[in-house]
Amino acid sequence: MIHLKTEEEIQIIKESAQILGKAHGEIAKLVKPGVKTSVLDKVAEEFIRDHGGVPSFKNYNGSFPASLCISVNEVVVHGFPGNYELREKDVVAIDCGVYYKGFHSDSAYTYPLEGVDEKTLLLLERTYESLFKGIEQAKAGNRMGDVSHAIQSYVESFGYGVVRELVGHGVGKNLHEDPEVPNYGKRGKGVKLVVGMVFAIEPMINMGTKNVVQERDGWTIRTADRKPSAHFEHMVAVREDRAEVLTTHKYIEENYSFKWRNRSR
Ligand code: MG
Ligand code: MG
Repeated sequence: MIHLKTEEEIQIIKESAQILGKAHGEIAKLVKPGVKTSVLDKVAEEFIRDHGGVPSFKNYNGSFPASLCISVNEVVVHGFPGNYELREKDVVAIDCGVYYKGFHSDSAYTYPLEGVDEKTLLLLERTYESLFKGIEQAKAGNRMGDVSHAIQSYVESFGYGVVRELVGHGVGKNLHEDPEVPNYGKRGKGVKLVVGMVFAIEPMINMGTKNVVQERDGWTIRTADRKPSAHFEHMVAVREDRAEVLTTHKYIEENYSFKWRNRSR
């Protein structure tokens, strides 16, 4: 069942998303070789709690151990923060959620560390672009398949693999609600988009095969061929003639030292 949001609820979600965006910005200041991923997690949790929120992921399903998912290189999503220290050439996907005044927000960004090769930077850049191809389609009157198809057709044109097992999702009083937002699909198919829908669009795109495997910890998902993967996520509200992006990567882009998206090719 899809819970449509009122204008007031969307405003609260935007407040939640501001705390989330700024938490991402605090993390961005610290992403560099030598930092332990558990430190990033601690900083995010403290920032969220200091601003009146609760980390949405902590204890999710009674078992997720952290406030961030930190997924390095061949890990697609749901990696745990821990003792691992980031290294040059890593690509590091950081996903975070905030619960505030009864509503969740959810967004993710993949950082390339200095030294990453151009081929991997292109994977990240095109995955980022695919997110916006999807967002452009998230307007009233379209179908979910229009969003899915826009993402899939763009990234597959470069030969990348689109993960099938994990999808975007509605967000509201629950972190994961209907509708599902697949990153693959057919134009004109699927749920009809109406004003008041709020959902997360989150392409998870692999350099190689689309196939993934789950590690024995029950959470960590990695590529079957151990090639790198990228993940970017925004939440949108469906409007009459457009999608409104509710989350922000602005604080990440202000604070991350490696300006990889503005590099000259
Ligand atoms: Mg999500
Ligand atoms: Mg997320």
